[in-house]
Amino acid sequence: MTSQTLTAAPSDSSLPELKQTRHLATELPGPRSRELMARKTAAVAGGVGVTMPVFAARAGGGIVEDIDGNRLIDLGSGIAVTTVGASAPAVVAAVQEQAAAFTHTCFTVTPYEGYVEVAERLNALTPGGHAKRTALFNSGAEAVENAIKVARHATGRDAVIVFDHAYHGRTNLTMAMTAKVMPYKKGFGPFAGEVYRAPMSYPFRDGGLSGAEVARRAIDMIEKQVGADEVACLIVEPIQGEGGFIEPALGFLPALVEWCRANGVLFIADEVQSGIARTGSWFASDLEGVEPDLVVMAKGVAGGMPLSAITGRADIMDGVHAGGLGGTYGGNPVACAAALAALDTIEREDLIGRARRIETVIRERLDALAARDPRVGDVRGRGAMIAIELVKTDEDGNGTLEPDATLTNAVATYARNAGVIVLTCGTYGNVLRFLPPLSISDDLLHDAFDVLEEAFDSIR
Ligand SMILES: *Cc1c(COP(=O)(O)O)cnc(C)c1O
Repeated sequence: MTSQTLTAAPSDSSLPELKQTRHLATELPGPRSRELMARKTAAVAGGVGVTMPVFAARAGGGIVEDIDGNRLIDLGSGIAVTTVGASAPAVVAAVQEQAAAFTHTCFTVTPYEGYVEVAERLNALTPGGHAKRTALFNSGAEAVENAIKVARHATGRDAVIVFDHAYHGRTNLTMAMTAKVMPYKKGFGPFAGEVYRAPMSYPFRDGGLSGAEVARRAIDMIEKQVGADEVACLIVEPIQGEGGFIEPALGFLPALVEWCRANGVLFIADEVQSGIARTGSWFASDLEGVEPDLVVMAKGVAGGMPLSAITGRADIMDGVHAGGLGGTYGGNPVACAAALAALDTIEREDLIGRARRIETVIRERLDALAARDPRVGDVRGRGAMIAIELVKTDEDGNGTLEPDATLTNAVATYARNAGVIVLTCGTYGNVLRFLPPLSISDDLLHDAFDVLEEAFDSIR
C-alpha cells in the first residue's frame, strides 16, 4: 500500500510540509478511502463507527490530510485530544526519544522519572494550593473509575451523584454514570449500582433560574432521594462535553462545592474534555475558583498519546493501600514523555492565550450567524470549546426550544463534504461543537466558518 509511506512520522524531514489550507483533490470519500472503508467493514467490529469515512494519512496544525490527498480543516481534534496539534514537534521528538530508550517497564514494577514528573506537573497545575497526589491511567473512563474508587475508600460511603446529560465513559461503571442511552448504554446492562442522577444546570433550557437555584434543585433531590450521609462523591463536568457543551450558570458549581464540604462529600471535576488549556484556562474549574477534591484528566493531556490522570488531595489519595491503584500500562513512559512535551508546548507557546483568541474568532462568527438565523438557538462554551444548539422555528419564524437534530446532521454533513471536520453532540443530537486544535490558524478558522455559513444558507 502506498498509504504506508504517507503514515511516516510528520517530523520526518523527507515529508513535505503539511500545507495549512483546505483542499479537495477528490470527492469525499476519495477512491482510496472507499477501498479502505470496504476493508474496515469486513475486518472491524460494526459497533466501532466512524464520523467520516475518510482515512487519515497525516495531521498537524489545523489540517488532517487523507490518503487521497484531501486536506480537511480539523474542528474536532480527534475529540478534544490534539490540543497542541496532532504532530506537535516537541511531542514527536519526546515520543521518538523515549521509545528508543524504553517503551515499557510497568511503573508498578520498576518505576521511571517521567511518571513522577507528570505527577509533579499536574499537582502544580490543577486548581488549589493544597498538598496533592496524582495517579496515571490510560483512558478517561479508567481514570473516572479510579476517582470513584478513591472517593468510596476515603469516605466509606457508596453513593455517587452524577448529572443529567453527563458523559463519563463506556466501561460498566461509567456507562451507569453516563446519561444518554443511545448509543452508549443500549443493550449493555445491567449497570453498576449506587449511581444517582441529579438535574443539571442548563441555562438555555432552565427558564432563567439562577445558578444557586438550580444547585438547590439538585441538592434537594440528593437529600430527599439519596441522603447526604450516604454520598461518597458528586462528579460533574464543569462544562459538559458529549451532553452538549452545556455551560452551567455561574454559581452552580460553587454552591455544589459548598454543599459537598458541609456534608463530607467529595467533589470531583471530570475535566477529561474541558481540561488542559481547552477552555482558555488550565481547567474549566478555574473560572469560578472551584477547587475540586479530585480532578480527572485525559484527552488533551498527552498530545494524542493515551494517558489519563486523577489528581487529588494528598490525604484522600494516600488513604488507598499500596497496590489498590494501578494497572499494567497506566502512565506508560512514552505517553508520559508526550505529556511533558505537550504541557511544555502549552506554556512555551501560550496556548491558553491562543484558546482565548480562538474563542473571540469563533464567537464573532457564530454570534453573527445566530443574529441572522433563528435556528441557532444558543451559542455557548469557552476558549476552543464552543458549540451552537440548533432548534426549530415557529410559524412566525422565531426560534423555539424544540431541538432540531435533522438540521444539525444536515449542516454537519454539508461541512464534512466540503472538507471541514465537525462533530455533533448533545442529549437531543442538536448541538454542533467546535474543538479545533490550538495550533490552527485564524485563516483556517475563517475558511471553516465560511463553509458553515454556506451550509446554513443552503439548507432551508
Ligand atoms: C471522553 C470523556 C470521558 C471518557 O474518556 P475515554 O478516554 O474515552 O474513556 C470521560 N469524561 C468526559 C467528560 C469525556 O469527555
